[in-house]
Amino acid sequence: METKKSYFEEFDHIFSNEQKSIDYLYNLRWANGWECPRCSHSEHWKVGNMKYKCKECGYQSTIISGTSLQRSHLPASKWLKSAWYIANETSCANALEMMNVIDLGSYHTALSVLDKLRAAISRCEKQKLKDTVIVDDVHIKSDTDGFTYHTYIAVEVIENGYGHISMELHSQTDYHSFIRRNIASGSTIRTNGINIYARVPEKYKLMVINKKSGSKLLPLIEDVVDEILNRRLLGGRQSACSDKKTNMCLEECCFKFNRRNKKAESLFEEILLGMIKNYQNLN
Ligand SMILES: [Zn+2]
Repeated sequence: METKKSYFEEFDHIFSNEQKSIDYLYNLRWANGWECPRCSHSEHWKVGNMKYKCKECGYQSTIISGTSLQRSHLPASKWLKSAWYIANETSCANALEMMNVIDLGSYHTALSVLDKLRAAISRCEKQKLKDTVIVDDVHIKSDTDGFTYHTYIAVEVIENGYGHISMELHSQTDYHSFIRRNIASGSTIRTNGINIYARVPEKYKLMVINKKSGSKLLPLIEDVVDEILNRRLLGGRQSACSDKKTNMCLEECCFKFNRRNKKAESLFEEILLGMIKNYQNLN
């Protein structure tokens, strides 16, 4: 049975027809004026509804040319509604649910939309964690998809607990690359000091946490994992999906975790920017 999502009322109010969705994308993509996706020239002819021809190179484009949506046949409003869904759901996205609540037609389409949205999330701006950061690897078993995610995890230590986090699939990286990609140089890495964790890359400081008897090994990390599980932030993986896609489930989890104090509208805009910017594929 279809579950009504109350947050769609606002969406249906703002994007009451397809043209409003197109206008929104247009303004987001070309906030500083239209630009040819091929040569960056700013002058164009309008050669049809949503179609533009560059006065410099003659390239004909639409609002989605040169974005991750460029081969999509779905109406813009469905893409926006899907991004709205991900931004408003506090737990991880689910393709079956998306198919039903957004009326995407088939499970196959829902999966493909979800993959593109997660790829967009992975292109969103990421700030490196800094100052004092705890690093470890953990096995997180999700009740939602039954999968055990073996992941490197980094947690920023702030005065009253934890700040931002980063996670990457253990099989897809190594300890030092993970640190360099996710943590600002000069930071202090706190670890349990066992095996590989006893050394950090150059330009990082190491602080080994001494385990007191009876205490949890790395309490802050356990708190973060508890929050991830309680909020069902991890568990959107399809059976037999690749490591790359599994990594994107971790990206979605971190994206939502790190924006836990932000409004859904701000996540919505970020996801859409990830879809239409930083992406060039005009072949
Ligand atoms: Zn051009």
